[in-house]
Amino acid sequence: MTDGFDIAVIGGGIGGATAACHLTPNHRVVLLEQEAELAFHTTSRSAAIYLEGDGGGIMHRLNRSSRAFFDQNHPELDAPLLDPLPVLTVGTEGMEQELQDQAARDVVLTPSIRYVSGHELVDLCPILRPEVVTCGILEASAASLDVMALHQLYVRRARAGGTEVRRSSKVTAIERTTGGWRLATASGTIECGTIVNAAGAWGDIVAELAGVQPVGLTPMRRTAFTARVDQDPTLWPFIYSHSSRYPCYFKPEAGQQLLCSLSDETPSEPVDARPLEIDVAMAIDHINTISTLNLRSVTTTWAGLRTFAPDRDPVYGWDDSVDGFFWLCGQGGWGIVSSPAAGRIAAAAIAGDDLPAELVEAGLRFEDLAPRR
Ligand SMILES: Cc1cc2nc3c(=O)[nH]c(=O)nc-3n(C[C@H](O)[C@H](O)[C@H](O)COP(=O)(O)OP(=O)(O)OC[C@H]3O[C@@H](n4cnc5c(N)ncnc54)[C@H](O)[C@@H]3O)c2cc1C
Repeated sequence: MTDGFDIAVIGGGIGGATAACHLTPNHRVVLLEQEAELAFHTTSRSAAIYLEGDGGGIMHRLNRSSRAFFDQNHPELDAPLLDPLPVLTVGTEGMEQELQDQAARDVVLTPSIRYVSGHELVDLCPILRPEVVTCGILEASAASLDVMALHQLYVRRARAGGTEVRRSSKVTAIERTTGGWRLATASGTIECGTIVNAAGAWGDIVAELAGVQPVGLTPMRRTAFTARVDQDPTLWPFIYSHSSRYPCYFKPEAGQQLLCSLSDETPSEPVDARPLEIDVAMAIDHINTISTLNLRSVTTTWAGLRTFAPDRDPVYGWDDSVDGFFWLCGQGGWGIVSSPAAGRIAAAAIAGDDLPAELVEAGLRFEDLAPRR
């Protein structure tokens, strides 16, 4: 039997969920996920940080213009999506000018950003080693983000609007029909007018299935882990070391735990990513160099794929080589934070509308996000 929809969204991570949520009011939507669970891959493996001033100009604008959604009261939720957690990006001797320049650039979009140095670094986070860490950028309005509540909010709204969610439904073949597309999936055949490609690390593979030229996405593995500490870290900021000698980050979590990473970026095939012991060991070494934490062991480890286009900006837009193929891929390291803006961009473009005024005011343009920019 063949089912008919206006739009088939391929991928049940945060990209597919925000797309379905924002498209549902005006279209018959089906959300297709190859795994038995939604959000099984990168979306459930993030550091869950809301930060604006990272990832480059376009991502900064997308993240900034997503803030209003996070700050809204969402009646379906029993707790806010954001829990305040300042982020302190730190640098070592010789990086002062670089971080001052970056802070001066980024404060234009995010007023809470400022350069810090000297004793203030240790005042903000007493376990930093002042002989190693000499400068930093504080983003005081950053926050910890409830990723699974956000994903569930999108899916719940999509379902309430009529979206059909199909798990264990890997799309294995795509062919053109007169009115759009026919998709062979592990749970049956679907016909639709439009495909939204939200397949994360598999974005180029889905494009190839449809006969669409890939955009050159590269999935990059990043290993993360949690570690128990003797101190109570709850008053510390998130520490992100920008030093190329000691790359790492750590985030205070409940129960005297830190969520840590080397900030590694290793090109990978699109797979179920696994953590690398060497990346954990190097992260521990760097964290122990910039701080007095003296980490020795870890509680849990995992890895996820952050997927980038060649210029590292997201790919949101119609493919101009074929009718009815929309890309929502390449969110790299900020796909959760930027997801409210991504959903609105997809909804506007697919409806044939202009970009919403707030996104234009934030300096965003369809053409900067387009697949063949
Ligand atoms: C360690 C780490 C830390 C991070 N920290 C942050 C952070 O603090 N803040 C932030 O905003 N972002 C963070 N990110 C990035 C963020 O997690 C990603 O940008 C985001 O999850 C990407 O979402 P996605 O929906 O595109 O991908 P995914 O979540 O991978 O979803 C894509 C889905 O498509 C499905 N799929 C693929 N092919 C098919 C097919 N043929 N048929 C059906 N389904 C298919 C896959 O199974 C998958 O579920 C982090 C990532 C990592 C790895």
